[in-house]
Amino acid sequence: MSTQHSNGEQAPLLRRGPTANKEQPPVHRSVRAIIYGVLTVIFVVGLIVVSVFWEEVGGIVGEFPKDPEQAARRLLKIAPIIDGHIDLPLVAREEYANNASWLDLEKEVNGHVDIPRLKKGQVGGFFWSAYVACPTDEATFELALTSQQIKTAIGRGRIASLLGIEGGHQLGNSIAVLRQLYLLGVRYVTLTHVCHNAFADSNGVQPGIIPRWNGLSSLGVSLIHEMNRIGMLVDLSHTSDETARQALKLTQAPVIWSHSSSRAVHDVPRNVPDDILAMIGTDAPGKVDAVVMVNFNPPFVANPGNATVQTVADHIDHIAEIAGKNHVGLGSDYDGIAETPKGLEDVSKYPALIAELFRRGWTRFELAGLTGRNLLRVMDGAERVAQELQDLGTEPSYDIYDKRKDVGTRIDL
Ligand SMILES: [Zn+2]
Repeated sequence: MSTQHSNGEQAPLLRRGPTANKEQPPVHRSVRAIIYGVLTVIFVVGLIVVSVFWEEVGGIVGEFPKDPEQAARRLLKIAPIIDGHIDLPLVAREEYANNASWLDLEKEVNGHVDIPRLKKGQVGGFFWSAYVACPTDEATFELALTSQQIKTAIGRGRIASLLGIEGGHQLGNSIAVLRQLYLLGVRYVTLTHVCHNAFADSNGVQPGIIPRWNGLSSLGVSLIHEMNRIGMLVDLSHTSDETARQALKLTQAPVIWSHSSSRAVHDVPRNVPDDILAMIGTDAPGKVDAVVMVNFNPPFVANPGNATVQTVADHIDHIAEIAGKNHVGLGSDYDGIAETPKGLEDVSKYPALIAELFRRGWTRFELAGLTGRNLLRVMDGAERVAQELQDLGTEPSYDIYDKRKDVGTRIDL
């Protein structure tokens, strides 16, 4: 039997010499081992390379139609379009009141994109571009989050726009919501509206409302600490007198009455009594810096038919007399009141009020305080206190409303 087989399966990988049948010397065995080893390595490396690139070539190998149109269809079946920028949300914004759910994409939409055409175009994915036009230099309003931003906006000839939440009930009994509202840009929270809430008592609408907490609840105390810590102004309009007194004793930051007038001038619960006005100031220990921003609502200003520029000025004068001219501002309640004083029918009429106060002897510096600088000072103060408390590492309040059923009982460790 010859060792020179022609059969490939049995053909030796290495041509064997005449001594092949005999016991091979050790040197031959080691050469074969090296060659087998190299082949194995080449095979494994090849396997890895193919597996890595298979995804890239996946499906694109093989016969393709010669016709470019058909080839395109075939290619897109394997590798559909992923478009980087489609302005479909703009169609919703401009033609469907920004409500994408009104777009019936199953039918033909007035535009370039709908489901039948996406399928026809073999689209596998796309970016929905969110877009609104860039602001122009003619913009009138500018969001302001700090006293400095108010000044900057006014300096640019714009109207600074700030956000206030009227009524602690809108916090949903949660101090965490307060923090969220601050992040959204809200800079004051009126502790109550006409109803009591988890934090504090309201002064209601008519005299004689029965208190629920006799001022602040314990959660309300925590709320004020947290408002001070984050720099949210405490607004005491609408609160009961007891709430206001307790808040003034508690707060570390200046506070505001965003829209309240003087009870001594016109006796309604919504107005601020003199004993509380006397707690405002910076001239004695225990007093609190604040600004009472006078409300124009005729039922708060005077008896029916008597609300005028002059009677509104009477409120300003009286608050200035008790608390000081540095502690009065304007909080008209425009668009929130059913009627207006004579001579102060809308926002175009502020100059009439300033002229009236000039006639009464107010200086230009005092009036600049009334028109806005007193508020800016109070905002500055609240921002400063927040910074100080945060620098001290004051912890956020984790207190929760004790009537909540959706969270576990607090365990005091
Ligand atoms: Zn109000």
